[in-house]
Amino acid sequence: MINNKIIISFFTTVLLATACKQNTTPIETDPLENKIDSVLSLMTLKEKIGQMTQINLTVIAKGPNKWASNDTMEIDFQKAKKAIVEYHVGSVLNTVNNLAQTPKTWYSNISDIQRIAMDSTKIQIPVIYGIDAIHGATYTDGATMFPQQISTAATWDTKHAYNMAKVCAYETRTCGIPWNFSPVLDLGIDPRFPRQFETFGEDPLLVTEFGKAMIAGYQGNESNIGNEYVAACMKHFTGYQATISGKDRTPAYIPDNILFEYHIKSFKAAIDAGAKTVMINSGIINGESVHASYKLLTEILRKKLGFEGVILTDWEDINKLCDRDKVAVNRKEAIQMAINAGIDMSMVPYEYEEFTDYLFELVEEGKVKMSRIDDATRKILKLKFELGLFKNPVTNYQDYPKFGSEEFNKLAYESAVESITLLKNNNSILPLKKGSRILVTGPNANTMNSLNGAWTYNWQGKYTDMYVDGVPANLMSTVKKEGNMNSKVVRDNLNPKAYNTIYEAFSKFYGEENISFLPGVSYKKNGSFYDMTEDDIQKVVDAAKYHDYVLLCLGENCYTEKPGDLNDLNLHKLQLKLANKLSKCGKPLILVLNMGRPRLISEIEPFMSAVLNIYLPGNLGADALVDIINGKVNPSGKLPYTYPAFPNSLTTYYYKPSEVQNNSQGAYNYVGELNNLYEFGYGLSYTNFEYKDITLDNDSLNADDSLNISLTVYNSGGVDGHEVVQVYVSDLFASITPDNKRLRAFDKVFIKSGESKKVSFSISAKDFSFVNLESKYVLESGDFKVHVGGNSKDLTSLNFFVR
Ligand code: BGC
Repeated sequence: MINNKIIISFFTTVLLATACKQNTTPIETDPLENKIDSVLSLMTLKEKIGQMTQINLTVIAKGPNKWASNDTMEIDFQKAKKAIVEYHVGSVLNTVNNLAQTPKTWYSNISDIQRIAMDSTKIQIPVIYGIDAIHGATYTDGATMFPQQISTAATWDTKHAYNMAKVCAYETRTCGIPWNFSPVLDLGIDPRFPRQFETFGEDPLLVTEFGKAMIAGYQGNESNIGNEYVAACMKHFTGYQATISGKDRTPAYIPDNILFEYHIKSFKAAIDAGAKTVMINSGIINGESVHASYKLLTEILRKKLGFEGVILTDWEDINKLCDRDKVAVNRKEAIQMAINAGIDMSMVPYEYEEFTDYLFELVEEGKVKMSRIDDATRKILKLKFELGLFKNPVTNYQDYPKFGSEEFNKLAYESAVESITLLKNNNSILPLKKGSRILVTGPNANTMNSLNGAWTYNWQGKYTDMYVDGVPANLMSTVKKEGNMNSKVVRDNLNPKAYNTIYEAFSKFYGEENISFLPGVSYKKNGSFYDMTEDDIQKVVDAAKYHDYVLLCLGENCYTEKPGDLNDLNLHKLQLKLANKLSKCGKPLILVLNMGRPRLISEIEPFMSAVLNIYLPGNLGADALVDIINGKVNPSGKLPYTYPAFPNSLTTYYYKPSEVQNNSQGAYNYVGELNNLYEFGYGLSYTNFEYKDITLDNDSLNADDSLNISLTVYNSGGVDGHEVVQVYVSDLFASITPDNKRLRAFDKVFIKSGESKKVSFSISAKDFSFVNLESKYVLESGDFKVHVGGNSKDLTSLNFFVR
């Protein structure tokens, strides 16, 4: 335990400083800003720069300072003292060996770090530890793994985002870690991008609403963050996923009106909801590296959006201004540009001496102002105070009994089961009754990796390969050393065998005698995420005749960031081959899509009897899937993105009118079509919902009015179910070409079979404004339409007028 001595000695120091300055007020009653002033007044320039420095754990851990090694996690005191005492480094991130650790190991390592910071330094400022815990505590063995954000968005119920964040905060704090680099508030507009699954999809309102729920789940409601909560880090500000190439960290060209209309909204809402920190887009917008952009970081983020928290770089991104983007001639100039643009903390993460020494020189030379350093340090200290780190630098895993609990896993299951999206169900082939004989096939049928995706027990999410006899390779030593306690954790939570693959979940429900598994094609164990091998496809086709149905589990292996860049949006050719061959087997094919982005399946979709998108549903995803397929749960997920049909027809549902140009005159007849396979907001149910009595209370509004819509949804089918009621609005004519329509409200309601529910919405007319070419929100008078329905295509429309 970090002891009271630390707290007392810290407060003594601060008390003295305060007493000297003010002579009257005791520190305990000082407001936060005074406390910060007191600490700041004691700090040298080098100490302040240290606070602005974030290093990778490997820099101060035993073993080589590189991404992956075979080392267990242990602090190297000599290295740590150099960084923390000599260089005053104030923040550490990541794990060692790119692998998950037990809460106990985390606690012991972070305690060591804090002991060095609090016992051996003059001012005793605790280190702030940051981690990527994206859909659960990524780097913690036994953590509860929720569906990824894209799945969460498909539930269209923000309570699942809140639950995920709350559990994740709790389990991150279990490890003694108070800062999480999440949520992703990027707009997932490009199906090619390797991080679309980390977003809440293509729609600005969905991203905004789910983002706000995440912030509330992470941080709680108080301005001081309690011991079960963490500081959130919105990322990656801004426009990160809007590259021209669709590849990670490549150039984007985004005019200001587009930035404000679509990309910045979610960040603004999260700032207003109190988000404490932000991470910057590692890319380049309009030729300017975002990390060097005074306009984006200071003029927009700080001044216009009013963000007062800590601005953090992404990984090595100051160096990239020189090494990659060639906008700084050397690393020193890169530091000057980034800090002057508004960066408060640099995720260096390796060569911290270089960063701290150059920044020191820059201040001495007058190229970076002292006021900028003070400003950044002040914000970092404030965060540390708000997190309670000065009082309690590390939380103890023993105080978190709910870690990895049934209760938490149940919440993850609920999110998964509500996210699964039924895209096709010919002749109501689903649900499949007990006793059905099912051939389970495809590369995604028997692996936990692809259910979870990246950021699961390690960065890229390929973790099952690293398990030995059901125990994670990196834990073998801990398990042997620590005996029962950890073995229990391993048995109950850690071992991916405690969770079901699709094949396992089906065997358990339908009975082993009814379920067979043959992969047909497989992901290569070693190699890039798209490397596949062909197994015996003919054997799969032959086996089909002994079964009633074929459950074809296709998709992607796990990936994120650059390793997930894609050259071809089509599903891998071996998977298409497997599907094509199976199309002749004479048995109904049920296609399960398990993927981080909508890979193209137009070639094989026509001969599928049913299609389900399970996205990346997490550890409980297979259990959720079997409950949808057996009918225990009625599907209610809806697509949070447009599912394209062709590689050259990629649009969002809020496309511009020119995307559908028709010409039926003259020699050249053409009909512009959208060519989507499935529309945004689409998803079937085992029941039917009818929309009735859609009314507006007023069809003519002023700018200060609200549009009040009411309707009745009737469940006319045979089963109870959830429906997602969606409200879109179109501005019919505007001074810049308007969006086809925009989602302005949604609600997920439960309706029993044969019953109706009244649903109403009140939308402020201001929400129908758009950002004009002067980057101003304007509401232009004229004709509008409101559209109501269960997806973005099949809608009932009513007119209204804005005066
Ligand atoms: C990613 C961030 C992540 C950071 C720290 C970067 O490569 O872009 O999303 O938070 O690494 O792991």
